[in-house]
Amino acid sequence: MGQAQPRITAYGSGGFTSYDDAELEKQLSDWAEAGMKMVKMKVGSESGRDIARVRLAREAIGPDVQLGVDANGAYGRKQALAFGEAFAAQGVMWFEEPVTSQDRAGLRLLRDRLPAGMDVAAGEYGWDLQHFHDLLTAGAVDCLQIDGTRCLGITGFLQAAVLARAHHLEVSAHCAPTLHVPVCCALPHARHIEYFHDHVRIERMLFDGFRDAAGGRMSPSLDRPGLGIALKEADAARYAV
Ligand SMILES: [Mg+2]
Repeated sequence: MGQAQPRITAYGSGGFTSYDDAELEKQLSDWAEAGMKMVKMKVGSESGRDIARVRLAREAIGPDVQLGVDANGAYGRKQALAFGEAFAAQGVMWFEEPVTSQDRAGLRLLRDRLPAGMDVAAGEYGWDLQHFHDLLTAGAVDCLQIDGTRCLGITGFLQAAVLARAHHLEVSAHCAPTLHVPVCCALPHARHIEYFHDHVRIERMLFDGFRDAAGGRMSPSLDRPGLGIALKEADAARYAV
């Protein structure tokens, strides 16, 4: 694929709504202390707690680490607009799926009306080129998310990324961080990789060649073929179904 950048920014992603305040605080501050320049948390399942949780997250990571939120489409349009303005007061700069990705007009409305400096992101469910085309032509996102495990693999990832480039947008890899390192490093306009808590745990457990995000950056293994990973067959055997 060639290399357009030697390493790619990784951001810590977790902050699940099932966490209590202490768990949320610890996970996000651990990532900040490990050198992550951005962390992301979930919002939307109990909206009454969201503003307090986001405030707590900001206090945990300090003023210099970027904070993103992911609502997984849980809000309505105007509700998302109101929450977005409140999150902006805490310096949130990434609002992922404020409304469902099926509501492209809603994403566009939010993209146009949310405060400056707050990006609207979506695309993680895309499994064919049409999905990405529709999001982009609707003007629904500021940064296109792509998941190589869902969108026809590396080939599909590259195709969706080219579409985004034609719309003057950057792309971000959704989950499966180790798999996305080579493909994101091959693209000059890949912004970052989602270093998703659960996937990091599974990759570390089941794959030789797992890449750590030390210092908030990831780089490909240039001494291993392909994606640079191999399934640890023996370790995986106990989970066979
Ligand atoms: Mg998401």
